[in-house]
Amino acid sequence: MPQQSARPASPSNAQLADPKIEARVDALLRQMTLEEKIGQLVQYNDTGDSPTQAASPQPAADNAGVIVAINPVSTNHIDSMQLAATGRLGSMLNTIGKARTNTYQHLAVEKSRLHIPMLFGADVIHGYRTMYPIPLGLAASWDTDLVTRLCRMSAEEATTAGVRWFYSPMVDISRDARWGRTAEGAGEDAYLGAAMARAYIRGYQGDDLSQPGRVAASVKHYAAYGAAEAGREYFTTDMSEIRLRQVYLPPYHAAVEAGAATMMSAFNSLNGVPATANPFLLDKVLRGEWGFNGFVVSDYTAIMELLNHGIALDPATATRKAITAGVEVDMMSHFYDTQLPSLIKSGRVPMSIVDEAVRRVLRVKFATGLFEHPYAEAPEVTAAVPEHRPLVRQGAEESFVLLQNKQENSTPVLPLASAPHKIALIGPLADSTAEMVGAWGGAGRDPDIITIRQALEDRAKKTGGQLAYAKGTEIETDSQSGFAEAVEAARNADVAVLALGESNGMSGEAGSRAYLDLPGNQEQLLEAVAATGKPVVLLVFSGRPLVLDWAAKHVDAMMEVWFPGTEAGNAIADVLYGDVSPSGKLPMSFPRAVGQEPLYYNQFPTGRPPTGIDLSQPPGGDSRFFSRYIDVPNSALFPFGYGLSYTTFSYGNVKVSRSSIPLAEAEPGRTTPLVEATATVTNTGTRAATEIVQCYVRNLGASIEQPVRSLQGFQRVTLAPGESKQVTFPLGFNELSFYNLEAKPAIEPTHYTVWIGGSSLADQSTEFIVAPQPR
Ligand code: BGC
Repeated sequence: MPQQSARPASPSNAQLADPKIEARVDALLRQMTLEEKIGQLVQYNDTGDSPTQAASPQPAADNAGVIVAINPVSTNHIDSMQLAATGRLGSMLNTIGKARTNTYQHLAVEKSRLHIPMLFGADVIHGYRTMYPIPLGLAASWDTDLVTRLCRMSAEEATTAGVRWFYSPMVDISRDARWGRTAEGAGEDAYLGAAMARAYIRGYQGDDLSQPGRVAASVKHYAAYGAAEAGREYFTTDMSEIRLRQVYLPPYHAAVEAGAATMMSAFNSLNGVPATANPFLLDKVLRGEWGFNGFVVSDYTAIMELLNHGIALDPATATRKAITAGVEVDMMSHFYDTQLPSLIKSGRVPMSIVDEAVRRVLRVKFATGLFEHPYAEAPEVTAAVPEHRPLVRQGAEESFVLLQNKQENSTPVLPLASAPHKIALIGPLADSTAEMVGAWGGAGRDPDIITIRQALEDRAKKTGGQLAYAKGTEIETDSQSGFAEAVEAARNADVAVLALGESNGMSGEAGSRAYLDLPGNQEQLLEAVAATGKPVVLLVFSGRPLVLDWAAKHVDAMMEVWFPGTEAGNAIADVLYGDVSPSGKLPMSFPRAVGQEPLYYNQFPTGRPPTGIDLSQPPGGDSRFFSRYIDVPNSALFPFGYGLSYTTFSYGNVKVSRSSIPLAEAEPGRTTPLVEATATVTNTGTRAATEIVQCYVRNLGASIEQPVRSLQGFQRVTLAPGESKQVTFPLGFNELSFYNLEAKPAIEPTHYTVWIGGSSLADQSTEFIVAPQPR
């Protein structure tokens, strides 16, 4: 819901708005030649293959190879050290390590005429050396404090390697599980996405960017990259301004309001205009409405890609469009350095535009304290840090979502019995280090990772139990040669634990999938093991929601574990054995079939609502003409906000502090709550556990249709057995308003329903109205 009131934009980051910094920027800018100014807007990388060469545009598997063939300007010949030494290279990407960054920094600071330090940026997405769960997993924790602590930890580690700028957080809302980059964000919901965005910025930047161990964040990918049609990577986005503002922009805006120092423009086009040359997004909204005073870096070769988008016939036009729209730094296109000199000379780009761009870059460099402390000085972190392991272990535990836990002889299958017993551990992810981290593994190292096998073997030793391991199959193969051994292991065990799912590379950038099943023949392996009749616990590794329809019908217990990171095995063992009760809740809806995608809870109503249709009946008759599929229910298999615990919770007493709000009070810009919603939540089970209490709102009767429900609050609550607690959700202008037909935030005299409960299916509700003005 709207985050922006009608108030005029003030500078988004107070530190960047400091007059002392502005004075230093002015003084420096006055001394700079055009070449030096352009240098601040140029970014290359150094793959390390050859210490002085910037890489060709596609050095890493994370960037699509097709671009090499069509990039009209090769960067193969670029001598980045020479550029650094002459003040013509303002920043570098993915050039990490104390020795390397300091080498470049010495050139920039000691050899260049104006001694301007360089900024080193890197894709530290979910940990530097000590790795925590992928961002989608972290979002499943709904624990913003934990996210802040983890981000602070990774910033502290990475700064020892000279990295002072993270290309994170990715705050793209993703409602289509086919899109591989769902792994990198917080899922489908604007409210949760905005809360996570703030948590990342707080962790990376703190209150003062110049403090040791702080990094500047780059919020990406601005904007609406997650809405790529059909979930296909780098594809078109087209949507109404209302949907853009209501669903997709809030997390970027929240990050900007939290003081994000930089943003990254996206690859996709939005309503026909590529995000990297989009004046509406970059100038009108980001700078104008939100008062953003940091800088924008393009995504990798995105300025060059404006040619492929067909909105520029030559590099000069692409450059002009990008810089005038508000992209300050050119990542790897090699356009700003080659095109800007003649564009300035001919007057096609005014000098004031370049000055403004340089000003924004210098502001961030001053604010990060780079001029005072340009070099990495602290001892370099080169491996997972032992003291950081407990925190990433906690992060992993909180990210797990227990999807199913059936009763066997009136006892749930999980947690596993503490008495000595035999476990068959099966699956291609059960003894893998490489696959525990997920996409964007940073500088994490395989030897640091605890596998599930290792952790369960340790437990078996301690409890006097036995563990038999059988891989069973590979992640993607047709061969069933390992099945027999796996089935045999299950037959001889009390319980089979299967670790199945995607590989690291199946999600993340360029990881779109058209099928969302367990890859290869893993489902057949699961079927073969389940056929033994032994209780089966399925651990699902994935960077996105998968279709788990068969498993849901046949497997006893099932837990989504995403990609948990360095402490994967230990965290999984803690939850399997019940040292920790699972508390994660899904940040994305899990479909029954891929054809339901995009699938999200926060849908608009239809004139033919599907509710009440009995899908066990053959399609036809009156039930046919509703908004539904004839072959699958509309609902998610596991909905947004859903997740089980080892205890149970009940909800009651859902109330609001008043039943009617005078419209006159519901003014944009109001910061105090309009109404408070409360509920009592009780732990009705036998063990202490944490519940994520969620508050959903529906608005009926507005001038424009509103979603069937929207998350507008959540809280983590830990309760002892039998304990009750009252939870309160303040609902103010931001929570109750919507974007009207003019795409402006508004509250109208309408009817509201509020639900409080443990998922997006919460069924305890109350109501209130916003009353019209008396005539
Ligand atoms: C990705 C970005 C990333 C950048 C730098 C791009 O291909 O889309 O998310 O930050 O590369 O590595």
